[in-house]
Amino acid sequence: MKKVLIIGSGPAGISASLYLARSSIADVTVISNGKGALAKAEMIENYFGFAEPISGKQLLENGKKGAERLGVKFIEAELTSLGFTDDMRYEAEYVGGRDSFDAVLIATGAARKAPSINGIKDFEGKGVSYCAVCDAFFYRGKDVAVIGSGDYALHEASTLLQTASSVTLLTNGQETNIELPEKIKLIKTGIKALHGSDRLSSVEFDDGSSISVSGVFVAVGTAGSTDIARKLGAAVDDGKIIVDESFAANVPGVFAAGDCIGGLMQVSKAVSDGAAAGINMIRYLKQI
Ligand SMILES: Cc1cc2nc3c(=O)[nH]c(=O)nc-3n(C[C@H](O)[C@H](O)[C@H](O)COP(=O)(O)OP(=O)(O)OC[C@H]3O[C@@H](n4cnc5c(N)ncnc54)[C@H](O)[C@@H]3O)c2cc1C
Repeated sequence: MKKVLIIGSGPAGISASLYLARSSIADVTVISNGKGALAKAEMIENYFGFAEPISGKQLLENGKKGAERLGVKFIEAELTSLGFTDDMRYEAEYVGGRDSFDAVLIATGAARKAPSINGIKDFEGKGVSYCAVCDAFFYRGKDVAVIGSGDYALHEASTLLQTASSVTLLTNGQETNIELPEKIKLIKTGIKALHGSDRLSSVEFDDGSSISVSGVFVAVGTAGSTDIARKLGAAVDDGKIIVDESFAANVPGVFAAGDCIGGLMQVSKAVSDGAAAGINMIRYLKQI
């Protein structure tokens, strides 16, 4: 049996899991932190098969139960990183564990927006990064900061600690209950602006203080679709993962479906994407 990881238990991820589980060639695991778009939808009345409106939560619950009946396993946790193993399989790190897989479907919903901090957009690619594992190398021996306050921020800060001279976690006014390694400094003051000339050189805070840094890594909330894609080197454009007609990203064995690839952001389209991605993943798994 091949091992497949589906990131996201929304309509796209669940729909793909049904096809993959029924193929009998895949052992399917879905990981989800339960914070998708459908969970926020009060009532759905434009999706096939319901005589009365159904809440987003109930629709999700029904979908999960149907997948479980077919043998799909669920992990309720936040995925913090996705990388390669030495034998070119995929290694997922999540809060509470890690495991490796033969293929991955990213179905994590629409990308979250960057925090609205003055200068953040201006320094993208010039000191502002969204992926520690991709860019840590460029900041070896330098002072860097991570913006965020949760497990994803801790993961990014810990990755940077291996190469950077110093790492400071900036919660931007948020409280945090994560346990930071001693070497990571913590600043909870709100961020006013990022400054620099050609490249980022400092962060200014609401209280007028500032710190000098060469890089700021954005890791607010959970790892979103584009953060996860970037860690694998998969192409992303304008917050969307680029896929071909078989829903494959430009990295073998990585597929994406639903809101994270753009287009109509509706349940029906996410279900359709998931079905097509699932079928194409079965084809891929038969070839490897
Ligand atoms: C308020 C609201 C109302 C809506 N109303 C309608 C409507 O009436 N009709 C309609 O058709 N559509 C509606 N939509 C849109 C619809 O909900 C989405 O198009 C659809 O849910 C997209 O499905 P998806 O599977 O791509 O992503 P999502 O449903 O967003 O699911 C994403 C999944 O990824 C998981 N995830 C993300 N990041 C991580 C991580 N790092 N680790 C672990 N898990 C992660 C989430 O927990 C979630 O399970 C509405 C959306 C909203 C927000």
